Amino acid sequence: MKTKIIDFGRDLLHLFYPHLCLACQEETSSYDDLLCLKCLVQLPKTNFHLLSENPFTDRFWGRVQLQGGAALYHFVKGGKTQQLVYQLKYEGLKDVGIKLGRLYGTHLLQSKHFQDIDYIIPVPLHPKKERKRGYNQSWYFAKGLAEAMKVRMNNNVLYRKDFTTTQTSKSRIERFDNVMKAFAVKNEKMVQHKHVLLVDDVITTGATLEACGLQLLQQTGLRLSMATIAFANV
Ligand SMILES: [Zn+2]
Repeated sequence: MKTKIIDFGRDLLHLFYPHLCLACQEETSSYDDLLCLKCLVQLPKTNFHLLSENPFTDRFWGRVQLQGGAALYHFVKGGKTQQLVYQLKYEGLKDVGIKLGRLYGTHLLQSKHFQDIDYIIPVPLHPKKERKRGYNQSWYFAKGLAEAMKVRMNNNVLYRKDFTTTQTSKSRIERFDNVMKAFAVKNEKMVQHKHVLLVDDVITTGATLEACGLQLLQQTGLRLSMATIAFANV
């Protein structure tokens, strides 16, 4: 009975505030849907998780040793993926991260490279940025993944040092150097001999993921995989 009332309430709500697909703004049929069926089919899936070597893992070739690496969608400028990431990152729609994480978690479980993950770790935001935004978008993607994959999240190991520097005045190499020094690991024992899935919203050059990954890989016996919502060509 109770659920019926809730359903009725939701239907009423739907009537006055139709639930819109976050990618195309068309009305969706179900209250819980993030995307309409058309967008769900049309969004440019990479299917990288099905391959041991793919454009994602290639980006880290010779830089970071990965067990598995994959992204849910291709990032096309002005495309639907960009819109989804923008809403998660700048418009406070944390649900986008959670739901995409849940969706991708079910995909990753079908891949042999992501079977025995012990912890999911989101790339930490710069503390100043997180205070300003109020949240870390990658944390929500990680949360959705953790739910679907039935794996614990871990926010107590990898952290970003709280130092301020203006990136714009620096050269490309200086910026790269800065990113490399920005992360550190604490509570090392927690991740020794574990398979860690490091996650972020978008991969572009991979410098941030590389910096985090190299810190994690210094821990004894740690195996590393990575996943993002979107994969941008560089
Ligand atoms: Zn749509």
